Amino acid sequence: MVTPLWGRLGRMDTSRRTKIVATLGPATDDPAVLAAMVGAGLDVARVNFSHGTRDAHRRRVEMLRNAAREANRYVGVLADLAGPKIRIESFQGGAVQLEEGAPFALDTALDPTAGNSAEVGCAYLNLPNDVHNGDVLLLNDGQIVLDVERVSGTRIHCVVRVGGTLSDRKGVNRQGGGISAPALTEKDLEDIKLAAELGIDYLAVSFCRDAEDIRRAQSTLRKWRGEARVVAKIERHEALDNLSAILGVTDAVMVARGDLGVEMGYAELTGLQKTIIRQTLARNRVVITATQMMESMIHSPIPTRAEVSDVANAVLDGTDAVMLSAETAAGKYPVKAVQAMAEVIQGAEKYQVGAERRIWRSEDGFTNNEEVISMAVNYTASHMRVRAIVALTESGLTPLLMSRNRNDIPIYAFTRHEATRRRATLYRGVYAVPFDITTSDPKQLYPAIFEQLLQRGLVETGDQVILTKGELSGVSGGTNSLVILSVARS
Ligand code: PGA
Ligand code: MN
Repeated sequence: MVTPLWGRLGRMDTSRRTKIVATLGPATDDPAVLAAMVGAGLDVARVNFSHGTRDAHRRRVEMLRNAAREANRYVGVLADLAGPKIRIESFQGGAVQLEEGAPFALDTALDPTAGNSAEVGCAYLNLPNDVHNGDVLLLNDGQIVLDVERVSGTRIHCVVRVGGTLSDRKGVNRQGGGISAPALTEKDLEDIKLAAELGIDYLAVSFCRDAEDIRRAQSTLRKWRGEARVVAKIERHEALDNLSAILGVTDAVMVARGDLGVEMGYAELTGLQKTIIRQTLARNRVVITATQMMESMIHSPIPTRAEVSDVANAVLDGTDAVMLSAETAAGKYPVKAVQAMAEVIQGAEKYQVGAERRIWRSEDGFTNNEEVISMAVNYTASHMRVRAIVALTESGLTPLLMSRNRNDIPIYAFTRHEATRRRATLYRGVYAVPFDITTSDPKQLYPAIFEQLLQRGLVETGDQVILTKGELSGVSGGTNSLVILSVARS
């Protein structure tokens, strides 16, 4: 027997393929706002462990899940670890004004609240060892620039190159990277436990340096029985150098343009973004493009033309998802930001249909059946009219692989696993359908699939669809066949 799990069929928005990640925060703590964001197309919600208490994270995840349930949609949750972000301590008066050419020191031995316009504390004790004279330190996302003159003991003597207002607890980056702090702090290890408890879908590792950092996050997650997939945030010089090895172990990456732009210099960001996206897709991984995508919408109800162009370009680069940060977490127009993003994605995708037909990798051997089948599907779909691709899947691997090569034909991931459905929210061009299959008898199976597609208005009678499945349904890793079907009503 085939039993579709879902009585009330979920609204399925297939008007765009690129997915939207939005960060939760004080501005989204109202259930009505969250419901409107989900309605506007939110695919994955980011909970930022850099800010807020554990209770606040817990409440936000719960509120998000309620909103998703109410809307009858799948929304994934991405928990983003704080990581070893190096910060200055505090000033006596909350902030100081730094003048160009004036001396200023960072001192790890200074009382944390004793900062003034000549010096400030820093909790990262190793900083004086990582920094040398001639280095450039960037504070507050590069707003303040300091030239290091001399390091003596705990004290880093600098001269202000670019001044301005500097307030408590702002971030510190070293231009070119080279800070030795490991990616996972004590707090991160604790937070991974929380992430596992909350049953979140993706865990982002901030400031990872290499594959080992990712493996460590994965094993900590498994220790707490978390099933989340891992996102390596590419925001350090070291992570770029080790990108290939990181792609070997991670499930996804984030082009974390905020910190990456500070370390590498913003002028190279666009090229880096394109390179990272291309390499990630070629390695069958998932990629999120993040930070300042619609920054002006923190205060304004419409994006600037440059922001529209930025989002559109990420879409044309082939990113799986684009991300909103402060625009939704702390902005004035969180719902409008999601709406604007959805519109811009749709606008951009109109111009991409042909461009996604990638070169067949005829020189490579395939490592598993799923890859063979997904490439065969892509080849077949390129030479005939296909309205939809349906993958009966356990882990979601086959739809993921298919979407790496082309995703202008919607790929429906039919699965009985809730976790697989929530994970697929991040895959470009993939839409999850709850479907419990306990038979492989085509006489029962095909009509049940057609019914799902027809009832949701995704196909019409007579449309051709491609179905992928395994002989033994319900077995992960079993996909080994491709069938071409013509939709019929039963
Ligand atoms: P963040 O990471 O928002 O946690 O800083 C993204 C980035 O640096 O771009
Ligand atoms: Mn960052």
